[in-house]
Amino acid sequence: MTTSHGGAADQGSHRPAADVDVLVVGAGITGIYQLHRAREAGFTVALLEAGAGVGGTWYWNRYPGARFDSESYTYGYLFSRELFDEWEWREHFAAQPETERYLNHVVDRFDLRRHIRLGARVTSAAFDEPAAMWTVVGADGTELRARHVVAATGVLSVPYVPDVPGRGDFRGESYHTGRWPATPVDFAGKRVAVIGTGSSGVQIVPAIADDVASLTVYQRTPNWCTPLNNAPISPAEQAQLRAGFDAMCEVLNTSVHGFLHPAHDRTAFDDPADERRAFFEKMWQSPGFSKLTSNYTDLLFDHDANAEWCRFIAEKVRGIVEDPDTAEKLIPKDHRFGEKRPPFVAGYYEAFNRPRVSLVDLQESPIVRITERGIETAGGVRDVDVIVWATGFDFGTGALLRMGIRGRDGLALEAHWADGPTTFLGIQTAGFPNLFFPGGPHAAAGNNPRYNGDQVDFVTDTLVYVRDHGYDTIEVDPAAEARWTDMVNRNVALSSFTERSYYYGTNIPGKPRRYLLNSGGRPKLFKEIARVVETDYSPFRLARSSDGGDRRHR
Ligand code: NAP
Repeated sequence: MTTSHGGAADQGSHRPAADVDVLVVGAGITGIYQLHRAREAGFTVALLEAGAGVGGTWYWNRYPGARFDSESYTYGYLFSRELFDEWEWREHFAAQPETERYLNHVVDRFDLRRHIRLGARVTSAAFDEPAAMWTVVGADGTELRARHVVAATGVLSVPYVPDVPGRGDFRGESYHTGRWPATPVDFAGKRVAVIGTGSSGVQIVPAIADDVASLTVYQRTPNWCTPLNNAPISPAEQAQLRAGFDAMCEVLNTSVHGFLHPAHDRTAFDDPADERRAFFEKMWQSPGFSKLTSNYTDLLFDHDANAEWCRFIAEKVRGIVEDPDTAEKLIPKDHRFGEKRPPFVAGYYEAFNRPRVSLVDLQESPIVRITERGIETAGGVRDVDVIVWATGFDFGTGALLRMGIRGRDGLALEAHWADGPTTFLGIQTAGFPNLFFPGGPHAAAGNNPRYNGDQVDFVTDTLVYVRDHGYDTIEVDPAAEARWTDMVNRNVALSSFTERSYYYGTNIPGKPRRYLLNSGGRPKLFKEIARVVETDYSPFRLARSSDGGDRRHR
């Protein structure tokens, strides 16, 4: 790994030299972009990545069936027209291998690999106050001193496996979707259990259903799944994408959720029943998230409108799944569409028509324990060879709270966030100078790379501002942090998600129940960034160590 790139941040100062100006943690889509932007801005850079390859989510989640549910070309980078032109996505919703290849291509194309150290999981990051820099230690023995740390560690990067009694007793193979092994898992002729029916579980089920001897799906809560409607990108569409690049960027860079789909202009009961049904059919046939973003404008606010759409989906499920009892179990009864993050599927409901695939309803028959040979529920024991845990992630704060982050006066991030995260712009937290976490908690729901990219752009501009003004530290003022966090908490009411959604952390035992997204979305982010710039970074405390190490605020 090369850490020197001719940066000048420490030149002409008597402060101790850092190994790098900017240390990025995490080589996912956000971290790769941050590395590129920071280096382009003239900083010396390094990136530490826990995995043995780059890609973040698209490195770890290599389970069969893993794929985008945002359109490929809207998820990829937009900062380079040349990159966009030369990379041909093969499908509207690319599968994991293609995305992993794309991210490797980006790393090589922009000559970023020499700054990346793989297999270096960060175990501690401590702010050295007199030196005004971070000491970051990796599990592989790496130790780096960095002026700034940007933790691009993701919101869905720490897998959660429930503490089911006997879990350690199981003698077969077990895997979590979010830590899928690099060597493909051989399912042929095996009896397989999939536990969990969120976006990951419903992707893997149809992908392996033909290979297995038997597949038992353990479902605690059904989700409102609708078709992804993926397709290859035809040569004509490839040409259209290229011709429409600027217009597409305009939409993606300004839309609230970072999707291309245009909003509808009607409410559900503007249309008579037959037209509403025809419209729902159109939605059912439409790609990915358009069922949410281009549906009737009152879908998430009017319970009757939502109920109409849910009834339509339920009818579809009953029409696809041949066994009426199974179909009923697959239809959600406890939440409306959009109250949880909706999964998008290809052949999920159809999979239950195969004789070898069956559903266990855990509300009816809860898991009692894992045995050496299988899974015992209140309804009996099933022996299996493989257990797939599709049981989700410690969302939002999981990775940041496991990095041993220590700020001023040794303040532990875990202590600072004991009651849930407090942030400014979802980027910085008070007491942790020169630490940024774009793509962390308090980000918006939607097409993640777009919002995270906005945050990376702002972090980069901020780093340049700090350097060009000769400051050594930047730290958000507690009042600004409180203001942003209050805004996040106040705007919870704007969110359609229920407290049973993992966006509140409620899937993790003992985790404080706090809304972990920013319902204000990009408009709030853009507005606040504009204010930061207009007020010459007034929400931040900026200081020079050459001022005797005091915390002068300009
Ligand atoms: P998830 O949505 O949190 O789903 C976890 C599943 O595990 C739920 O069905 C949950 O049931 C179940 N579960 C948890 N603890 C359990 C227990 N003790 N016993 C039985 N079941 C248990 O996780 P995910 O499916 O990995 O998806 C997480 C997020 O990753 C998605 O929402 C999405 O943002 C992203 N993702 C995206 C894609 C894509 O298409 N691009 C694919 C996969 C994931 P309950 O609902 O009852 O808690």
